[in-house]
Amino acid sequence: MGFFSTFFSKPVSTNLTVTSGNGFHLRPVAQFVSVAKKYSCEITASLNNKSVNAKGVNSLLGLSLEQGNRFTLTCKGKDAQDALESLTNIFDTLMQNDTEIEVIEKEDTHYEGDFIKGDIISSGIAIASVYHYKEESIQKESHLSFEEAFTNSLDELEALYTQHKENKNAGIYLAQKELLASLKTEALTLQDLENQIERLSAQLIGSKLEAKISDYKDILQRVKKHLGFEVKTLFPNEAFILLADDLLPSQIERLSEVSVAGVILKNTSINSHTAILLRGAGISSLIADTSLFDKDDKVILDAHAAVVVTTPSQNDLKKAEKRLQEDKKQKVLVSTKRFNSAQTKKGESIKVLANVTDENSAITAKEEGAEGIGLLRTEFLFKEEKPSFEMQVDSYEKIFSYFGDITVRTLDVGGDKALPYINLPKEENPFLGIRGIRLFKTHPEIMEEQLHAIFVAAKNRSVKIMFPMVSSVEEFSEAKTFAQEIAKKYQIDISKLLFGIMIEVPSVLFLIKSFNTVVDFYSIGTNDLTQYLFAIERTHTTLKTDELSPVVFDVIKMISLQATKPVSICGELAANKKAIPKLLELGIETLSVSAKSIAQTKEEIRHV
Ligand code: PEP
Ligand code: MG
Repeated sequence: MGFFSTFFSKPVSTNLTVTSGNGFHLRPVAQFVSVAKKYSCEITASLNNKSVNAKGVNSLLGLSLEQGNRFTLTCKGKDAQDALESLTNIFDTLMQNDTEIEVIEKEDTHYEGDFIKGDIISSGIAIASVYHYKEESIQKESHLSFEEAFTNSLDELEALYTQHKENKNAGIYLAQKELLASLKTEALTLQDLENQIERLSAQLIGSKLEAKISDYKDILQRVKKHLGFEVKTLFPNEAFILLADDLLPSQIERLSEVSVAGVILKNTSINSHTAILLRGAGISSLIADTSLFDKDDKVILDAHAAVVVTTPSQNDLKKAEKRLQEDKKQKVLVSTKRFNSAQTKKGESIKVLANVTDENSAITAKEEGAEGIGLLRTEFLFKEEKPSFEMQVDSYEKIFSYFGDITVRTLDVGGDKALPYINLPKEENPFLGIRGIRLFKTHPEIMEEQLHAIFVAAKNRSVKIMFPMVSSVEEFSEAKTFAQEIAKKYQIDISKLLFGIMIEVPSVLFLIKSFNTVVDFYSIGTNDLTQYLFAIERTHTTLKTDELSPVVFDVIKMISLQATKPVSICGELAANKKAIPKLLELGIETLSVSAKSIAQTKEEIRHV
């Protein structure tokens, strides 16, 4: 790339809005940066006249992007257009997948003994003596230079990220890697690195990103380990509740090897990486003032009620022990019963299917007890570049091989979902524009290739083909005729395939009787249906619809009463604890939920 072409090429830019309630925080920023670094063009992000390099985590985090902020991403150089498209796409996906950490509601439990109040990191009960965190520094011989130690640490974090990629917390390793990489230019010696981390950490005190300090400490410790400075943590042999100011994210894995019953930390937040990993490990934990514990006595850590009972009475201990056993029983029940079918108390069988996006999520769904796939979101299958026909057939075949009952949705692009290889016109209101089934008109070649691949992969299976965003009977009939013509063109027998629609557009509610004559099934997409019923964009940063509104249930009732073909629900509502009893009462017999919600959804059904 010559100097002149970089210098004179026209920059391209776009505006991006932070929709996640968590803001644009370290983990998504690290993923964004790791993609940005693959491009040779200059990439900057700007907000309110401040412009930063978007290829470094620290500089990008320096914009302090919060929910609702609209910033400008600008790319300048040879591959600028590609970079802009792919980063816009990645950004949208990151925002969509960035689930906000739920604040766990505190239960109201009365104890007789003295107690200290706290905040819940990870719920559960622990009864044990407290143990104050201790560590020992050891110095070993190391022949590595600082630069080698630095590179080894980066490689180690990259390897940890790859190794844990299937795990939802893998992003923590990538975040630490990018954080360390961003310090490279200024750190030529260990002393430089220490000074730099000290300075950056001091700036974070009292800020929203304060929890990042433990990530800095963690990466510094990793580099130091390669230089021979190790920290050995000491733990008792018997069960204990660990008290510490804070723990480093890398120390949490170690806890699963010792007899830790619970953890109480003083200086962390429920959003920190340490907290995320504690929840992932299922260790009952609270944030509380650890300086209030002077003796190493037996205490009750009740991370349901968010208290530590420091002087438990006999009654308190009995009560906590009972709850602890109930929790254990519940955990075993939910996980061992996940492969059993779900029946209500009256003996009605309810099918619990999974919403999946690719082969890995199909495997997870199978392991979690799904009875089939209720929604294969094919637009997430090939996110980066246009797949060949063969690649599509291969992916569908693999996914179809895990289950007998499969519903595959044709590409649902547009609105909140973008694909880099499908160019859609810039629209004022993309949620009301070209999306879902409307792509049959605008991109017939892409739809033809997809349907052809699904037909080939389906072989003799009775796969269900579902069209998204349908708003009229004609639209469905035209798409079905299109599919039949493709089958004819390639001489594939599709007589076993079923064709149905997602109910997401309110007009369909008034057309059910007509649809009954043409479709084989319905699936209610409550995510979009709710957005269109209330005219509130599902990704809106400040407006929120009430997904439990009686209007939503009235609509489902109406569909259930009028439909003469099977109806399932595949929107988020299907996994909502409060909604499940009502949905079953309205006659819904199939729910399709994310893999992680399958066991719990089945358990909810058993209580109805
Ligand atoms: C829905 O709209 O409820 C749905 C399940 O589809 P998606 O969330 O993929 O738009
Ligand atoms: Mg939808």
